[in-house]
Amino acid sequence: MNKIEKFAIAMSELLFDLRYDDAFCTEITCPNTGTVVPDEFKDKILDDEENKKKIKEEIRLDIVHHLTERPDDWKNDKGEYEYRVETFDYAYQVDAWVGKLYENQNEIKTVWVCTNCGSDNVQAKMWVNVNTNKVSGEAMEDDDEYWCDDCEQHHSKVKERTMMPRQKIIGYQVEGHDGVGHHIMHPDMEASFCVYNLAEAKEMIHGEAKTGGHDGWQLLTIWTDDVEEPTIMFEGDPRL
Ligand SMILES: [Zn+2]
Repeated sequence: MNKIEKFAIAMSELLFDLRYDDAFCTEITCPNTGTVVPDEFKDKILDDEENKKKIKEEIRLDIVHHLTERPDDWKNDKGEYEYRVETFDYAYQVDAWVGKLYENQNEIKTVWVCTNCGSDNVQAKMWVNVNTNKVSGEAMEDDDEYWCDDCEQHHSKVKERTMMPRQKIIGYQVEGHDGVGHHIMHPDMEASFCVYNLAEAKEMIHGEAKTGGHDGWQLLTIWTDDVEEPTIMFEGDPRL
């Protein structure tokens, strides 16, 4: 085992133990949602052997990475690696791990969305019993086609999107592409931060034949936080 590996293993144990005690006296917040992790959750995770092992492994990898990039850091006169104040930065993996885990388990939801417009209004074909009308609950395996009821197009797949539970669809926009990688806003949109309901957006898409660039005009579903300080241009349900 080389010097870096040996030092990294020793540090992963030391830093975990040092941070372990502090972690109970300081607040740990979730990286995306900012929620303060409850004490019971900290206890549960930090006293779990499996999680301890994983956190130590994260710290070990960080130290190996640091010293591989900068092998002259943290060396004493004899050329041996030793603990420095800066080394402690990697102890915060403990907080990061706990915060991320809490967020993933309690704060984040995963939804399937349309690959084209980003809406969650997507449908898959399923087998239905002709007598009971009961859905088998499994998508037809030989047919991977999905239908998006918002942009009204067939797609070969849907994609996963993770988001906070409070996020919902706030409206729609219409965009085109100039063919060299730039988005163009539909000319009927008043500004890039304006959000419309589905009927208005569809009217733009199918309206007067103004050019939408390469692929015509496309629906774009806007979720909470997608647009900074959006102006809502309609009243009521966005999916109208
Ligand atoms: Zn769609």
